[in-house]
Amino acid sequence: MAAPSMGGVSLPRGNGQTVRLPRGASLTDLAERINAEPAALVTALFHLGEMITATQSVNDETLQLLGAEIGWVIQVVSPEDEDRELLETFDLTFGDEEGDEDDWSSRPPVVTVMGHVDHGKTKLLDALRHTNVVSREAGGITQHIGAYQIVTELEHNERPITFIDTPGHESFTAMRARGAKVTDIVVLVVAADDGVMPQTVEALNHAQAAEVPIVVAVNKIDKEGANPAKIRQQLTEYGLVAEEYGGDTMFVDVSAINRQGLDDLLTAILLTADASLDLRANTEQDPQGVVIEGKLDKGRGPVATVLVQRGTLRQGDSIVAGDAYGRVRSLLDEHGNKLKEALPARPVQVVGLTSVPRAGDTFLVVEEDRVARQIADRRQARIRNAQNASMRKRISLEDLDAALKETRQLNLIIKGDNSGTVEALEEALMKIEVDDDISLRVIHRGVGGITKSDIDLALADDVIVLGFNVRAEGQATELANREGVDVRYYTVIYQAIDEIEAALKGMLKPEYEEVQLGTAEVREVFRVPKIGNVAGSLVRSGTIVRNSKARLVRDGAVVADNLTVESLRRFKDDATEVREGYECGIGLGSFNDIKIDDVIQTFEMREIPRT
Ligand code: GDP
Repeated sequence: MAAPSMGGVSLPRGNGQTVRLPRGASLTDLAERINAEPAALVTALFHLGEMITATQSVNDETLQLLGAEIGWVIQVVSPEDEDRELLETFDLTFGDEEGDEDDWSSRPPVVTVMGHVDHGKTKLLDALRHTNVVSREAGGITQHIGAYQIVTELEHNERPITFIDTPGHESFTAMRARGAKVTDIVVLVVAADDGVMPQTVEALNHAQAAEVPIVVAVNKIDKEGANPAKIRQQLTEYGLVAEEYGGDTMFVDVSAINRQGLDDLLTAILLTADASLDLRANTEQDPQGVVIEGKLDKGRGPVATVLVQRGTLRQGDSIVAGDAYGRVRSLLDEHGNKLKEALPARPVQVVGLTSVPRAGDTFLVVEEDRVARQIADRRQARIRNAQNASMRKRISLEDLDAALKETRQLNLIIKGDNSGTVEALEEALMKIEVDDDISLRVIHRGVGGITKSDIDLALADDVIVLGFNVRAEGQATELANREGVDVRYYTVIYQAIDEIEAALKGMLKPEYEEVQLGTAEVREVFRVPKIGNVAGSLVRSGTIVRNSKARLVRDGAVVADNLTVESLRRFKDDATEVREGYECGIGLGSFNDIKIDDVIQTFEMREIPRT
C-alpha cells in the first residue's frame, strides 16, 4: 500500500494492526513502535488540528484519533494494566492469594466508618478506640496513624477488629474511593436527630457497589429529638432493612459522646463479618497490602502506615510501596510499640522507605532490594509521564497563533509534610480556572522540606514554590533569596488557593470598561482665538473632568468619539472638574464642530477588577 502523504511528509500506513502504548506516551514513543519519523507524526497531528511536539505526552483520545487517521488501532494501556505487566516482568502479582490450605488462617475484619459530615464519624472512631479490652504495653500515647486495631470479646473469644481511621478530610476522599478493596465492612453513621443526608446516600452507594456489607450506627441517640426508628424506616428505601423488621442489616443505636452502645456495635460488626464473609488470609506468602497514610517524620524520615492484607510483614523485608522502596527498618503499632511482625489486617507504621508513598498505593515485599528499587523507578517514570499528559493543556489549531504568543503558564512546585495534603493541594489548585490563555502546571511535587534541588528546578520563569507545613532547608533559602525565586509557605490550603488564584489573575491582560463621568449640554459656542471653538455648557449629570475622554452626541447620534477635554474653565479660571448644575467652558482640542444643543459625554477607561 502506498504511503499516504500528510502535509508532504510520508507515513508508514498501518493495516488496522494494534499498537499498545502506555498512557501519557509521546509521539516519539508511537513513532518508535510503528517505525515512523516522529516529525511525520507531529505534522500529521498538526493537520488534525493539534499542535504537540514530539516529546510531549499525548492524551488518549488524541493518540487514538491520530492512530485511526494513519491506519493503526492504538490501545492505551491503563496504569493498572501497566503495573500488572511491570510486576509480571519480575514474576510478581499483586492480589492473588496462593499457598496451601494450612497456611491460611482467619483474619480480623477491616472496617471503614462512613457517613454524612457532622454525623459523628470522628467521635465514633475516637470512642471505639477506647473500647480495647487488651491493655497495651507502656508505649506512650495512642497516635493517629490512619488506622488502628482493637480487641473485643465475643462469646469469650478475643476478637480483633481493624478500623481505618482517616478523618473526613478532603485528601482522603480519593483514598476512600480507591480503598474499597481495603474495607470488609462499612459502618454507616447516621445522626438520629438529622436522618439520611446526601453523603449518607453516597456512602451507601459506594458500599453497595463494592458489595461490602453495611452495619448502621444510629448515632447521637442522647440528643433530644433523636428518632432512631425513623432512621430505620428511611433506610429501608435504600434497601437497608433492619433485622428487627425482617431484613438482614444490623442497626445499632449509639452515642459516641456518651460511649453508649459501642459494645453492641462491635458485636454487630463481628456477627455481620461471620455471617456474610469468610475472612481468611495466607500468612505465609510474601506480604502485600495497601498504604493508608504517608508522611515525612522529622526524626525518622519517610513513614508509611500500611495495612497488611496477606502474608506476614517483618522487620528487614525489602518492600516497594507505590513509587517508594526500602528495607523495613522498624514496624510500629498505633501505640508506638515496636512489632516484630504484622499479620493480615494489621495496620502498622513502616520506617525505612526512601520516600513517602501515597495513600491508596499498594505495597509488596520482594526478594531483593534491587527488585524493589527497579519497580519503584519504573513507577516513578510512569507517574511523571501520566501527570504530564493529564496536565498539559491541549492547544487547538485555531488557537495556534495566539497560543504561540500568548499562552502563559504558571509553574508550581509543591512540597508538603505528607502525601495526602500535597495531593489535596494539587488537586484543588488544578481546579482553579481563570482564563483559557493561562494554565497552571505542577512541575514537581513531593513530601519533605524545600531543598536546594527544588530551587534549582524553579530557576526558570514563573515558578512559584509552595511549602505546605514545611520550610526551606539549608542552602535552599539562601539560593532562593539570591536568585529571587518566589517561595511561599502555607499552613492552610484555602490560603494557598487564594494566593495562587490571585497570582494567575495577575498574569491576565487587564480588561477595561468605560465608566461615565458626566454629561454636559452645549448652550453656546464661543470662538476663542488660537484655541478654536469652546462649548459654553451646563453640566447635566456627574462631573466633567479635565483631560478625561469625551464624545460628542448630536440628536442622539455620536458625531465624534475619542475626544479629550483639553481645556475646562469656570468663568475666567481653569478648573480641573466642574460638577452637575454648574456652567463651564469645554474645549475639545482641535475638534471644532460643536453646535448648540450638542451633548458632551465624558468617560474614563477603568481596569475591571478580577473577581
Ligand atoms: P464527622 O464530621 O462525621 O466526623 O462528625 P464529628 O465526629 O466531628 O461530630 C460532629 C459533631 O457532632 C461534633 O460536634 C460532635 O461533638 C457531635 N457528636 C458526635 N457524636 C455525638 C453524639 O453521640 N451525641 C451528641 N450529642 N453529639 C455528638
